[in-house]
Amino acid sequence: MQFDVKPSTNPVPEAERTALIAQPSFGSVFTDHMVMIRHTAEGGWQTPLLTARAPIPMDPASSVLHYAQEIFEGMKAYRIADGSTVLFRPEANAARFRQSAARMAMPDLPPELFVRGVEELVRQDRAWIPTMPGGSLYLRPFMIATEAFLGVRPAREHLFMVIASPVGAYFSGKTEAVTLWVSQTYTRAARGGTGAAKCGGNYAAGLLAQAEATRNECQQVVFLDAAEGRWIEELGGMNVFFVRRDGSLITPPLGTILPGITRDSIMTLARDMGMSVTEQPYAFEQWRADAEGGEVVEAFACGTAATVAPIGRVKFEGGSFEMQSGATAGLVTETLRRALFDIQFGRVADQRGWVH
Ligand code: PMP
Repeated sequence: MQFDVKPSTNPVPEAERTALIAQPSFGSVFTDHMVMIRHTAEGGWQTPLLTARAPIPMDPASSVLHYAQEIFEGMKAYRIADGSTVLFRPEANAARFRQSAARMAMPDLPPELFVRGVEELVRQDRAWIPTMPGGSLYLRPFMIATEAFLGVRPAREHLFMVIASPVGAYFSGKTEAVTLWVSQTYTRAARGGTGAAKCGGNYAAGLLAQAEATRNECQQVVFLDAAEGRWIEELGGMNVFFVRRDGSLITPPLGTILPGITRDSIMTLARDMGMSVTEQPYAFEQWRADAEGGEVVEAFACGTAATVAPIGRVKFEGGSFEMQSGATAGLVTETLRRALFDIQFGRVADQRGWVH
């Protein structure tokens, strides 16, 4: 599909941009452009537009503002060793976006159009990719229901957009390992709910739990299952892995959690290295016992924004425990993290067709 390209007539001057991308905090600085594609039930997807980033006019009755018909993705563009700019498994984000759209009764965006939209924005704004080690351009494709209608039914007008934000490391601070808060008050997803979709409402519902984590001096919240409050699901914005003493890995099964692309990549990398990985329910009390008894020696969180983050300490109402690996990454965590970075930043050959 032909993109209608209208570059900004007022881009951020180079010196200012250089200063902005030198020390970006997560998600607070944005590039010059954005992609917009409108959809109507009658006309399908309209001509895609690449234009200067600007506020979008919206009718106050737009469905997204009332019934939260909204989905999004999170992915990154990297500048790799040979100077080219790449995306990591964008087709996987496109596929997940499709699943999220289906769950939220939103129109199906062809994966080619999703990837093309992301590519167009990256091509236009690639000067915004930070040059510091680990720097990347975080991309936020999203779709909202724009129809002005207050009846409760799937909207008939939607808008797909892509915006971009230069980012450094997600977690700031000196120690690498993160401290987690296990929420025993709030849950994130129930069977039959929207846990596997990347919809805004899931994150709104998690904010109080995240605030509870912050109050307890933890960086991220761990959600337990809604039915029994017993099984570990995932973190606020990351999936989680546990490393046994024998080097094997456990991660919670899909169903009510977000099917993370990093999670999937880590499982593939680990298996290719000969490690055993099982997707199995794992109880919080078991984790505690296994950590205290030395059966589980490392744990890490993973996601696009946070990459692979070792878990150092776990706090909950009335107690806490520590992972044996302490404040730094254990051997397995570090090995997998390296392996993923090496592919993402083009330091090793990509044999799986992940680098785009
Ligand atoms: N779980 C949740 C709730 C998330 O928001 C994310 C980030 N998208 C993840 C897991 C990790 O997914 P991915 O590896 O695709 O970034």
